[in-house]
Amino acid sequence: MSDETSVMIGLEVHAYLKTKSKLFCSCSSEVTSVPNSQVCPICLGHPGSKPVLNEVVVALATKVGLALKCKINQNFFFSRKTYFYPDMCMNYQITQYEVPICGAGELVLPSGKKIRIRRAHIEWDPAALIHPNGMGKSNYVLIDYNRSGLPLIEIVTEPDISSPAEAREFMNTLENILNYLQVLRPSTTLKADCNVSIKGGNRVEIKNVSGFAAAEKALSYEISRQKNEVKMGRVIEQHTRAFGAESGVTNELRKKETEEDYGYIFDPDLVRISLEEDFVQNIKSSMPELPREKEERLKKQFGFSDFDSRVLCGDYYLGLLFDEMVKLKSNPSISARLLIREVLSVLNHDSISTSEAIINPCDLVELVELINGGKVSDKNIKQSIINYISGDKSPPKKFLEQNNLLISNLIDLNLIINKVISSNEKAVSDYKGGNEKSLNFLSGLIMRETKGTVSPQKVLSDLKKKLD
Ligand SMILES: [Zn+2]
Repeated sequence: MSDETSVMIGLEVHAYLKTKSKLFCSCSSEVTSVPNSQVCPICLGHPGSKPVLNEVVVALATKVGLALKCKINQNFFFSRKTYFYPDMCMNYQITQYEVPICGAGELVLPSGKKIRIRRAHIEWDPAALIHPNGMGKSNYVLIDYNRSGLPLIEIVTEPDISSPAEAREFMNTLENILNYLQVLRPSTTLKADCNVSIKGGNRVEIKNVSGFAAAEKALSYEISRQKNEVKMGRVIEQHTRAFGAESGVTNELRKKETEEDYGYIFDPDLVRISLEEDFVQNIKSSMPELPREKEERLKKQFGFSDFDSRVLCGDYYLGLLFDEMVKLKSNPSISARLLIREVLSVLNHDSISTSEAIINPCDLVELVELINGGKVSDKNIKQSIINYISGDKSPPKKFLEQNNLLISNLIDLNLIINKVISSNEKAVSDYKGGNEKSLNFLSGLIMRETKGTVSPQKVLSDLKKKLD
């Protein structure tokens, strides 16, 4: 058995849902920088306060469930998960245990592999603990209850993931689907509890890892740690660990408590929920196009390759840019090529996410028109995009015009070649004497004179004609 197949990973991914108010009270869930400004007796857990379920959260969770092909449980309820932690004002968390809103489903990775979803449920987020001097380095912590009671959806997979890279791929694909659904709270990242075991060992849970890259790192570290333990003849006990994003290592937190230790009980403050058939049907019929459907559509509609449509649809915001460009009558093939080959590569290079990038589709459409008219060389397309994203951000067309980088019909290549030949006699005679390198030298000088507005092939062939 290979290493890959001996690793079993299951994820519990937490995502913040996009709502105006919190899960069980009317406090705002907008992002604010003023701590403890969006609180009330319910999300502070005061005795006698009664939670009331936010219907929007149920609709969003149903949407997520449908996108993940989950069975939607139309009768569900909430339970109290009892434990003490300073961020948990009631000593219990309101969550779903026995019957979650979403039952079994699946998610298909770009590789084609299916990852089974065990369940997805709604729960409320605890308050935020703030360590003023960093985790483990502060004498005290501050608590911000603005976060207390924000709606989360927790998506739990079966242990079908077989490598850290695949775990990252899963989170990436999941986040993309959630973006298509438009259900994510802005500027939040997915967090995951990562369960991992190797052949012959018990399951170890790494708690609360924030982001894809960190999850991949934490799992890689943990798998080699477990393999070392086995090599040393030690038994891997079931337990919970924490991952330090800075140190890159996992450390034991506690021996694993069992589910029974949480003493789940039905929350009597909340009624049992029965979803009307219409409620689910309405959501079903208003589902947006999802990444895989869009991939198929682009292939059919524009004849795109598997690769191009996968890249365009594998990133919601990139796909959106493409749609907007096409709406503006931009050439679809050139637009796709521009986004995939140029825009995405500059964004990746500068570690800017497509959701943060400030790109006006009109600016790209102008560039596509120039490309389509044969007015700009590959080199200058690249330059104009680099400048647009990481330079002075002026629109590509303006940049090309201001720097005289557009291919002009007026440019007299013949004249430039003659000029370069007559002022570089030595290089010319070297070439005639058999030195091929001199040809590159001369064509480089010509390219510089034309500012890259003529293709290198054309320069080389014209130059050769003249010299031979
Ligand atoms: Zn509140």
